[in-house]
Amino acid sequence: MSLQEIFATRATRMKASEIRELLKLLDQPDIISFAGGIPDPDLFPKQIFQEAFNAALSGPLATHGLQYSSSEGHKPLRVWIAGQMQKIGIPATPDNILITSGSQQALDYLGKLFLSPGDTVLVGWPTYLGALGAFNAYEPRYDKLDPLSNRSAADYTAEAEAAGGKAKFAYLSVDFANPTGATVSRAARERVIDLADEMDIAVIEDAAYQSLRFDGEVIPPILALEAARKGGDIEACRTIYCGSFSKTLSPGLRVGWVCAAMPVINQLVLMKQAADLHSATLNQIAIADVAEHHFDSHVEVIRAAYRGRRDAMLNALEEHMPDGVSWTKPEGGMFIWVTLPETLDGANLLAESLKTERVAFVPGHAFFADGSGRNTLRLSYATSDEAKIAEGIKRLGNLITRALAA
Ligand code: PMP
Repeated sequence: MSLQEIFATRATRMKASEIRELLKLLDQPDIISFAGGIPDPDLFPKQIFQEAFNAALSGPLATHGLQYSSSEGHKPLRVWIAGQMQKIGIPATPDNILITSGSQQALDYLGKLFLSPGDTVLVGWPTYLGALGAFNAYEPRYDKLDPLSNRSAADYTAEAEAAGGKAKFAYLSVDFANPTGATVSRAARERVIDLADEMDIAVIEDAAYQSLRFDGEVIPPILALEAARKGGDIEACRTIYCGSFSKTLSPGLRVGWVCAAMPVINQLVLMKQAADLHSATLNQIAIADVAEHHFDSHVEVIRAAYRGRRDAMLNALEEHMPDGVSWTKPEGGMFIWVTLPETLDGANLLAESLKTERVAFVPGHAFFADGSGRNTLRLSYATSDEAKIAEGIKRLGNLITRALAA
């Protein structure tokens, strides 16, 4: 007997991410890689963390840092996060904050909390692959969320019910999304709240990149817009905000948070108790210290670096891409999304690129819940310097020009 035969049905929905498999192959020094979805390690505030960990291990919190701690998370960190939430218009108290092991854990818990097999999740086409991966374990189906189309709440609900389940939540990566770099407009955010109210579903607002705005106008988070509509009462809100320190301070420490109404937080606390008791105490103490004293100045350093790289990539795309190719112009974050003429296939192009141009990127179809989008690519500018970006995009432009002529 093979143990695979007795795996639960949910296991059949968990597949190795094509992207992660691909990235393993790309760790070669002569490749210019725009494929990774990771922050630039040269920008990690190493010295500051060294001091924070030293202080955490030698000060009054020393034994606390090495001990079990509360499932809700380190209180000073929750206090700091609640303060940050208030600055962006979300009327949160520390009781509305749960610390998670990265925002990825929050996505898993929210899938576990809401989804029965056959339920419907509304997502963008494309959307964050890791969200699909987290939700897939709970065996949902996906419907395309298109807030500014004329599909009504009744249309979405009817389709979910016809498929034998219920629509449970809409998931959106709101600012400088992974993979597109696009930001959800204020009108679309307002419409998502209308739809969610009418359908009686939750909204999961993934704010992983929110602090990394380089330019353009700040758009309030969906949770802030909803709270403003509901008399400033977060307890009346259906939006669940997921934040992360991964793109600002460190992804390796695995510290993120959920900000939501108390009944949701209380239930997630029970899940966290059952799953991993709490996130690493020492990491939370160090993050709290670094955030409190250095968050704004450090985020400014990251923004300046990424802004220059985004500009370098946009300029190079303008210079080297042939007619018929279009791309997003992100106001922050790490990604640019390229749409090629329909005749081209991103996966074939990658294979050719690795052979002849030594430039890597992620073919876009992996980010579509229905596997469409074959003519799209995700480029990350976060980990290459400006000269490499110029050279890599020039090579990619040559490749695409040749592919279109063939
Ligand atoms: N959401 C989005 C949109 C992301 O791009 C990522 C990381 N790539 C995450 C969530 C998860 O990040 P973490 O668990 O490190 O907070």
